[in-house]
Amino acid sequence: MPLLFVGHGSPMNAIVDNRFSRSWKELGSTLPTPQAILSISAHWLTRGTRVLAMQQPKTIHDFGGFPEELFAQQYPAPGAPEFAKATQRLSTKQHIVLDDEWGFDHGTWSILMQMFPKAHIPVYQLSIDYGKPMSYHYELAQEIRSLREIGVMVIGSGNIVHNLRAINFRDDAKPYDWAIEFDSKIREWIENGNHASVIEFQKLGAVAQLAHPSYDHFLPLMYVLGFQHAQETPSFFNDDFDMSSVSMRSMIYHI
Ligand code: ZN
Repeated sequence: MPLLFVGHGSPMNAIVDNRFSRSWKELGSTLPTPQAILSISAHWLTRGTRVLAMQQPKTIHDFGGFPEELFAQQYPAPGAPEFAKATQRLSTKQHIVLDDEWGFDHGTWSILMQMFPKAHIPVYQLSIDYGKPMSYHYELAQEIRSLREIGVMVIGSGNIVHNLRAINFRDDAKPYDWAIEFDSKIREWIENGNHASVIEFQKLGAVAQLAHPSYDHFLPLMYVLGFQHAQETPSFFNDDFDMSSVSMRSMIYHI
């Protein structure tokens, strides 16, 4: 199955028609239908790694200050408990805990609502243990990589640059120089398969600090790189910025 990293940006992208949501919609219409979708979202941070094993996960509205219309949205896709158990079994080095409390957070449903509006494909999520080093996430993904061979489409949902303190709401907002610099560097490393440098992105110093005051939106990328097979090359889409400090750069790997 193809492998995706999607820059999700504002939760409003779930319901508005803009250049980002339009490309999610178009992409969704061209993708094969997977047995299940595994989402690794920036918005499920836990202690220990958990995998969503619910039959019918609820839609979580994990944000504030948005219109009622967004809070009214539901993404009623079924869960994928059998794939959750398969994911748990594949990881022999780490103990993944089955979870029956979470649901679909907006990192997952804001994208899927546009990509697969019928909500007919089973969906589950893998949490991100925020306390672990960068390499943990990459290596865990490598361990469970064969999920792609049994019909699981993996989607990492975050942003390659994500600084909410620096957001600029003006219509003509241009990206910051540091945002362009960080985004370009990461793109170059991804294209060259230089995963070691991406994992050690903090070595970029001040630019990395500005791009990610916290790492939650960068961590899903570690998983996507770990799921990648050596012979695969990425195609980028939505390679643009929103609100000056959010990179919407996304990519897909086809086998
Ligand atoms: Zn987010």
